[in-house]
Amino acid sequence: ATPTALLVGTGRGAQLGILVKGPEVLESTRRVDTVLLDKTGTVTTGRMSVEVVGDDADELLRVAGALEAASEHPIAKAVARAAADRVGTLPPVDGFANAEGLGVTGTVDGRDAVAGRLRLLERHGLTAPEPVTRAVADIEAAGRTAVVVGWDGRARGVLAVADTVKPTSREAIRRLRELGLYPVLLTGDNAVVADAVAAEVGIEQTIAEVLPADKVDVVKKLQAEGRVVAMVGDGVNDAAALAQADLGLAMGTGTDVAIEASDLTLVRGDLRAAVDAIRLSRRTLRTIH
Ligand code: ADP
Ligand code: MG
Repeated sequence: ATPTALLVGTGRGAQLGILVKGPEVLESTRRVDTVLLDKTGTVTTGRMSVEVVGDDADELLRVAGALEAASEHPIAKAVARAAADRVGTLPPVDGFANAEGLGVTGTVDGRDAVAGRLRLLERHGLTAPEPVTRAVADIEAAGRTAVVVGWDGRARGVLAVADTVKPTSREAIRRLRELGLYPVLLTGDNAVVADAVAAEVGIEQTIAEVLPADKVDVVKKLQAEGRVVAMVGDGVNDAAALAQADLGLAMGTGTDVAIEASDLTLVRGDLRAAVDAIRLSRRTLRTIH
C-alpha cells in the first residue's frame, strides 16, 4: 500500500463530507461486516417535539425544564426549550446530577425532583400512581419516549417526547445492505420505540434499553462472535463504543467527545456518508493492491 494512494482516498473523503483521522483507518473499513447504529441523533434528527400529560402542565414543564437545562442530551434540549417557550425563565437547580441513559435529578424550588425513565424515579424512592404508569405505557406504545417528572416522593406527570427519522436514513440503510453489510439499531430507549424506528428505516435487528456504559459491551460481544464492527454514533454516551469498534464513525453534528473517539467524522450528519466512506475505502484499496 502506498501512502499516497491512501491519501488520495482521504482527499476524496473530504469532498464527500467525510473526515478521516488517518490513512490507516481505511484498511479496517474494508473488512467491516456489521454496522451498529445509535438511534437518537444518528438515525433520527434528535430534534424533538414535547407534549405534556398531567394536571398542571406549567408546573411540570417548569420543574422538568429547570432540570433538563443543565443537560446536553437531545431529549433534555427539547424539554428545556419547550419549557422556556411556555413558562419563560426557568428556576435555578441545586445539586444537579445526570444519570446516564436514565434522566436527571436535582433540587428545584426546594423540591427534590427527578425527570427521566420510570426506573430512575423508582430508584429515588418516588412512587408512580396508576394514571402515570398508564400514560407511560400509552406513550411508549405509540413509539414515543416517556419522560416521567416527579418530586417529593411522587411522580406528577409525563412528557411525551417524539423524535423523527432523518429523511436520508432509509436510503442509507438500503445502500448499506447492497454493500452486503448488516445493520443493527442500538439504543438506550425502550424496545417499542426502537422497533418502530427500525421498521421505518428497514432495520431488522434492534438492541434496546442498553445503558450507556453497556454499549461498549455490545460491540465487544459482536467482535467475540467474529464480526468486524462499525459503530455510528453522536453522543457522549457513544464514545466508548465508538473507540472499541473496528471502525468508529461520528456524526459531525454530534458531541466533541464522540468525534474524538472515532476514526471517521460524517461532517453533515447524513448517514449516507457512512455508506460513501465504506465504498470509497473499498475502491481506494482496489487501486492500491
Ligand atoms: P440513545 O441510545 O437512543 O442515544 P440514551 O442512551 O442517551 O439514548 O438514552 C436512553 C433513554 O434514557 C432515553 O430514551 C430516555 O428515556 C432516557 N434519558 C436519557 N437522558 C435523559 C434526559 N436528560 N432526560 C430524560 N430522559 C432521559
Ligand atoms: Mg445518540
